[in-house]
Order: sequence, then structure tokens, then C-alpha cells
Amino acid sequence: MKVTQKLTNNVVQELVGEDALEAVAYLFDKQNVSEFIIAEDLDIEIHQMRNILYRCYEHNILTFNRKKDKKKGWYICYWNFNKDHIPHLVGKIRTAKLAKMQERLKKEQSTHFFMCDNTCTRMDFERAVEYEFRCPECSEIMNQQDNARTIEFLTQRVDELKKAEVPF
Ligand SMILES: [Zn+2]
Repeated sequence: MKVTQKLTNNVVQELVGEDALEAVAYLFDKQNVSEFIIAEDLDIEIHQMRNILYRCYEHNILTFNRKKDKKKGWYICYWNFNKDHIPHLVGKIRTAKLAKMQERLKKEQSTHFFMCDNTCTRMDFERAVEYEFRCPECSEIMNQQDNARTIEFLTQRVDELKKAEVPF
């Protein structure tokens, strides 16, 4: 698997969030950059910068070395992009997405869903009974929904994810 900037962005977006994209992109082809330099270059306040960097570290996307600053006497973290770990994270995301999709498919296949003609809500049989088959939004009668197309769509997605190396 080739670890590109785009693939990395997808992983960061999925696991850490939008606000970490810039920092990881910045470190993509750099080594041992002081957190103060990163914060300065990205024009982000140092505490906020550290928060973002540590959140990436929790997923092993970034790593750091702490070194004592000889002049000032305090410790500074120097950050690296952990490129080799990205394929592992891609695999983890793929597995999680596949499991979720399979779960949804199973639910669709094993449940009768009920809906009114105005498509306000969609609920399973048990809940529909509670509402006496009246839509809680518009009070129209709710009928069993034909979910064959949903099942078809989810089956396709499951097959795609099984074949795909990258789940984005
Ligand atoms: Zn309704």
C-alpha cells in the first residue's frame, strides 16, 4: 500500500478529525520538528497545537521525541509522521466499516420496517405496534416498507468493502 498524502488525509479525518489535517500534512515529509516551530508555521496557539498533536499520537499517526532545551532548561517535543503505521490504520478502519455495514445489512434482512406515506419516520415492527401503526409525526397509517433496494445497496457495499484495500 502506497502511503500518499490523500490516503493519510482520509485516515486523519476518520480517526482524529478535520482540525488535525493541516498538522499531519505539514509533517508528512518532515522529521523531528519542534512543536513550537509547528505552531508558529501553522499560526496556531501552542496549547491548541499540542492538543492536536497528542490526539494524532494517540492513534500512532505521529510520534515524538522529548529533548531538553539546553538554554531554557525545559523539555520540547520533536514530532515525526509515522508513515509506516498508516497501512495498519487503513486496515483497522476498513474492518470497522465492514463490520458496521454487515450489521446494518443483517438488521435490514431480519427486520420488518414500517413507514407512513409521508416518510416521516421508519421503525421496526415492535415500535410500530407501540404506536398502533400510526405515524407519530403525521398520524397517517404506517405500512410495511419494501426494503429490497436497501438490502441490495448494502449487499453491494459489503462486497465492495471486502474487495477494496482502501475503504475510502
Ligand atoms: Zn408520517
